Formats: sequence, C-alpha cells, structure tokens
Amino acid sequence: MKAYDRRDFLKVIGAAGAVTGLGSLVWPMEALAAASGKVVVVGGGFGGATCARYLKRWGPQLDVTLVERDTSYITCPFSNEVLSGNLDISKITHDYGNIHAQGINVVHDEVTAIDAGGKSINLKYGGSMKFDKLVVSPGIAFKWGAIENDQAAVQRAMPHSWKAGEQTLLLRKQLQAMRDGGTVIIVPPKKPFRCPPGPYERASLIAHYLKWNKPKSKILIVDANPTHSKQAAFHEAWNKEYGNMIEWIKDTDGGVITRADPGNMTLRNDFGDEYKGDVINLIPYQKAGELVETAGLTNKDGWCTVDMGTFESAKARDVHIIGDACVAGAMPKSGHSAASQAKNCAAAIVSMLAGDTPPEPTYANTCYSLIGPKYGISVAAVYRLKDGVIVKVSGGVSKVGNKDRVHENEAKYARGWYKSITSDVFG
Ligand SMILES: Cc1cc2nc3c(=O)[nH]c(=O)nc-3n(C[C@H](O)[C@H](O)[C@H](O)COP(=O)(O)OP(=O)(O)OC[C@H]3O[C@@H](n4cnc5c(N)ncnc54)[C@H](O)[C@@H]3O)c2cc1C
Repeated sequence: MKAYDRRDFLKVIGAAGAVTGLGSLVWPMEALAAASGKVVVVGGGFGGATCARYLKRWGPQLDVTLVERDTSYITCPFSNEVLSGNLDISKITHDYGNIHAQGINVVHDEVTAIDAGGKSINLKYGGSMKFDKLVVSPGIAFKWGAIENDQAAVQRAMPHSWKAGEQTLLLRKQLQAMRDGGTVIIVPPKKPFRCPPGPYERASLIAHYLKWNKPKSKILIVDANPTHSKQAAFHEAWNKEYGNMIEWIKDTDGGVITRADPGNMTLRNDFGDEYKGDVINLIPYQKAGELVETAGLTNKDGWCTVDMGTFESAKARDVHIIGDACVAGAMPKSGHSAASQAKNCAAAIVSMLAGDTPPEPTYANTCYSLIGPKYGISVAAVYRLKDGVIVKVSGGVSKVGNKDRVHENEAKYARGWYKSITSDVFG
C-alpha cells in the first residue's frame, strides 16, 4: 500500500468524511417522506447501531427496532489501552439511551432464529418479531478447533480479549501478575480476522506497560500469516520505542500454532517446536457471528456473501448483513468499515422502501494504532463499487521515517477519531 503524508491523509479523510466516513450523506427530501415500513436491526455494535440511527434519520416514518442482547456495549477500539493500564474500561463503555431517545425501539434480547421467507425473527425471551427489512450486524464468532485445545485454553488460561469486556480485564490482570523477565505471547489468527492491525497495536501497548513496569520482559508475536498490517510502520516504531522487546515470528518461521496446552502454558507449532509463555493471548480463528450461521446465511468459509452495494444477503431477500460478518471486497473488518457499510445499507433500504433506486455507494475506512500514548500510526482508504465489488480508489499508510511530531499528532487524531465515531454510532 502507498505510504502517505499528512496532506494525502487529509485528502483521503476529507473525501471519506464528506460521503460516508464520519460525516453525513446528503439525502433527497422526497425519499425521506416516502419511505415507510418496519425495519429490524440485529446487533447494537458499530454496524447495527449506526444503521439503526441512519435509517431513522433518513426515513423518519420508518418503524425502526434495534435488537441487542446486552444493555451496554464495550468497544474493542481502545481496549488495548485498557490492557496497558492507560484507560479505564468505563471510558470505552456505551449505553443505548441516546439511540432510544432518537425514536428507535431498543429491545434487549437475543435473536435465536431468522425466518427470511416468513419475514420474522425469534427472540430468546420475547416471542417473535415481523419485519419488512432485516439488517444483521452480529460481529464475529470463533472457529473453535482450528488450533487443538483452543477453546479450553482461551477459557481457562490464554484469554483472547478479541471481544472487549471480561476477557480484556482477565488479560490485564494476568499482565499485572506476571514477573519481571516473563514472556508474553500473542497469537494472531490466520486472516481474515476482525481488526487486522489489532494484534500488533496490542503488542505495542503491552510493550509500553512492560517497559515502565517489567523492563526485563519480552513479547513474542507468533503469527500464522506471512505479513501484517502497517508492517513497516509498526516495526520501525517497535525498534525506536522498545528496542528488541518485541519479536515477530511469521508463518514460515514457525508462526503457525497447531496445539495449545493451557496446563503447561505452552504452544506447539506445525514444525513441532514448543513456545512457553508466562502470559498467552491466543486469538482464535474467526467466522461470522453464530446467528447468521444458524440461519444458513454463511458461505463455505463462514462469512456472509452480500450484494456489496445494498448489503442484501446473496441467500435471503430483504435480509441485509453488514460489518465484520460480511464479505466486503477490499474493506478490512473494522468498526469504521462497519459504520460506513451501515450508512450505505441504510441509504439503500430507505430508497428501496420508497420505491427508488439506491444511491451510488461510497465507503471509507480509517484505522489508527497506538504504539504508546504519544505515538500513533494509521491507515486510511476510500472505496467504490466496481463491477459489483468494493475496490479501493485511494488511501495510504503512515510513512516510515516520519518525524516524532507527526506520530504525536497521529495519537491525538486517534483519540479524536474515537470520540467522533462513538458519538456517531451511539448518539
Ligand atoms: C483489540 C481490537 C481493537 C480494535 N480497534 C479498532 C479500531 O481502532 N478501529 C476500528 O475501526 N476497528 C477496530 N476494531 C474492530 C471493531 O471492533 C470491529 O470491526 C467492529 O466491532 C465490528 O462491528 P460489527 O457491528 O460488525 O460487530 P460488533 O461491534 O461486534 O457488534 C455485534 C453486536 O451484535 C450483538 N449480537 C450478536 N448476535 C446477537 C444476537 N443473536 N442477538 C442479539 N444481539 C446479538 C453483540 O452483542 C454485539 O453487540 C478492533 C477490534 C479489536 C478486537
């Protein structure tokens, strides 16, 4: 990917913000008045909550219901700062009060089944619910068994912390309890997975904690992939900030873990070598959230194939699937991508229910990673639909050799991004 400087970055984000990134999409008033019907959105994370809010904004006559199993949402973005002790988990916890205040019916229940033909969903506690259009943004589930013992390991001793909450706090506690001179092992899964730069940001922020608290310690990233996101920028930053504290082992150098032994805190790779850790963060291989799999809406790889313009499922009419769960061409699985897809999906649904043709979509993604509290790097891109597939039309990644001032600013922009996107998602 092209390396970029501050001017390029502003151009990319300017274009993204104007269309779908963080700003609002300009919408014709006729469609606002004409759209009516019942839209149910399942999943109150980055994709679902954004979609519900924009459906109501652009289709005020619509009856919009958001079904979410939990009463509050803890964001994965910035959860690595909770691990490093720089942020309290309450700072990344959001409720649904403002979404409800917007005129959206918020139901806290679990959807257990989707009847696409009968246009209804079943709820664990509250019977069933009818819809004219259904949007599903269930996030990810884990492909247990891809590594022998992974489920038992994660539950007992090697937390994944890939869904923020209890698991984040558990990993934090383990880091605090570790001796100085210990080894932390991070195991990223094989791609595709939620938040491609996430494991490497995690290594950076854990290194920050260790540098100031347990400086004799070491971090091994044992990676099932040959390359990783923002690789050059991460490696430069690690050398500058943490010397040789972080070591990255790629797939062909022994990075493919095949077995976990939680009793002995060891991992075995496909060559038969063993790694022993004091703290192990085992991130399981991933697929779309359970609900869409149960509903028969996933492909052979476990993800949902959709029309990338409207996000309507390839397997069920009037069911739209967004966020991490769907296959969205060149877009990575991120909160920003999910929110951008949500807005395009909302625009498509409002126009379909008004009997209009959906507008031409434009999508954006920005992803900041913190190396330390005052050192940020980023990747940003704008996408369009070409021959039915989402393709990247511009963007770039932080340059190697940037001055410290640039990285300090990137860390500030990261916090600004979080404030801005969470107020867009949760009101
Ligand atoms: C460590 C880490 C750091 C990250 N950092 C960033 C970042 O800096 N920037 C960024 O853009 N992205 C980041 N991400 C990625 C981001 O968190 C995800 O891409 C994003 O949450 C995807 O949104 P989603 O709507 O698809 O799923 P989610 O946000 O997971 O939302 C799914 C929701 O659906 C609900 N749900 C699921 N099934 C049901 C059901 N059957 N009934 C009712 N409710 C249900 C769940 O409770 C959940 O609230 C990070 C991820 C991790 C792990």
